[in-house]
Amino acid sequence: MSFEKKNWDVIIVGTGPSGACLAREIAKRHKKVLLLEKGQVDLSINIPRMLLNKEMMFIGNGKTLVRGIRTGGTSVLYYGTAYYPPAELFAKFGIDLSNDVEELKRELPLAPLKDELIGPAARKIRESALNLGYAWEKLDKFIDQDLCTPGNFPFDAQWNATRYVNDAVESGAVLLTCSEVTRVILNGIQAVGVEAIVQGEHRKLYASKIVLSAGGLGSAQILQASGINKAGEGFFCDPITIVQGLAEGFEAGHEIPMVAGEIFTKEGFVLTDLTLPKLVYQLFSLQALRPHRVWQHGKTMGIMIKVRDGIGGSIKRGRVHKVFSKSDKLKMQQGEGKAKEILLNAGAKKLYSTVWTSAHPGGSARIGEVVDSNLKSEYDNLYVCDCSVIPTEWGLPPTLTVLALAKRLAKYLLQ
Ligand SMILES: Cc1cc2nc3c(=O)[nH]c(=O)nc-3n(C[C@H](O)[C@H](O)[C@H](O)COP(=O)(O)OP(=O)(O)OC[C@H]3O[C@@H](n4cnc5c(N)ncnc54)[C@H](O)[C@@H]3O)c2cc1C
Repeated sequence: MSFEKKNWDVIIVGTGPSGACLAREIAKRHKKVLLLEKGQVDLSINIPRMLLNKEMMFIGNGKTLVRGIRTGGTSVLYYGTAYYPPAELFAKFGIDLSNDVEELKRELPLAPLKDELIGPAARKIRESALNLGYAWEKLDKFIDQDLCTPGNFPFDAQWNATRYVNDAVESGAVLLTCSEVTRVILNGIQAVGVEAIVQGEHRKLYASKIVLSAGGLGSAQILQASGINKAGEGFFCDPITIVQGLAEGFEAGHEIPMVAGEIFTKEGFVLTDLTLPKLVYQLFSLQALRPHRVWQHGKTMGIMIKVRDGIGGSIKRGRVHKVFSKSDKLKMQQGEGKAKEILLNAGAKKLYSTVWTSAHPGGSARIGEVVDSNLKSEYDNLYVCDCSVIPTEWGLPPTLTVLALAKRLAKYLLQ
């Protein structure tokens, strides 16, 4: 096959925000880029299929983790909230992302939501939080707000990484979906290619540079299969719970989530409004043994607590396991206490917390341990660029950070 004979300039594994951004930057400069993606194009939320594909998985003690295995990666499922990379954290590793963030600000639809687009539940929660003295600020969203009208939030209005994948392909990159990379091909201390199951067939593909952007779980697994065993020893996943309550006198249900909130940096958690998509709401009600709440989506308001969990657990041979520490649980309890206070003040009743889930696996191939500050591994020509390189515990929306890391790596590789 032609893609097999070619010696690619760069093979990028994974099409989430990091892989897509990197492919776009490098393809624009007329390099031969091959993008390998395990999943296929899928914009749906189909829970049985997500369980089957391991997009939703159990990680221990009944707790779940969600990530996307599809073109665009997890950004197809995400809530589109942007948080700027913490400069001091990256400065410790000699990394300055400020120029990359400025570029992204020019390219992406990043802004807090206009007041008229904020839904009724998020508005009530914000009023209540401000009234109680919280610094409940609007958050930047990855949303083309001109495509939205009050109460109408088309899926296409929210930026996701498929847009960058399309740009990369338009600039000449080749995308192969249903193509799972199993290991890196090594020649002494050099990485020279990857082994992959491409649309059902075993292939060896060669390139001058290889970048793993297979996400917080995927990259660690490929590194381990390639002999880098310290990858996957410990990770974070930013567990969340949602305190949900019922309120009268408003019609909620379909609104833009994570519009505003507060980051409790010292305490180690974040609070934001969160109205779940209906199907996910129903699943969470059942999981929390509240079948009678399944039909009350339109009366529900919720606050999400996202905790900065410690690095722990392991990703080994496809098994992802994490037991949360006492300190993680304490942070969650503190966050739940504040969320309940805000919801009760907003008039919500019959509060309960959903079962913990997680949506940000990362820190499994940390800068300073598995890769250096140029994101290079111990093998020449092998780089990692995605949530897995985040060097410490995290607890924040990571998409803007991995996009900035990808911009920075692209400049380095193009030098
Ligand atoms: C419900 C939900 C809400 C979220 N909300 C937000 C939010 O509001 N803001 C925010 O910043 N973040 C949010 N996130 C998290 C965000 O989507 C991810 O952190 C981000 O997409 C990570 O990007 P990535 O490039 O590191 O990896 P991913 O997006 O996970 O992409 C990895 C890609 O690699 C592919 N892959 C994996 N293994 C292989 C392999 N062996 N071979 C080939 N391909 C492979 C996968 O299929 C996938 O396409 C949310 C996540 C979820 C689940």
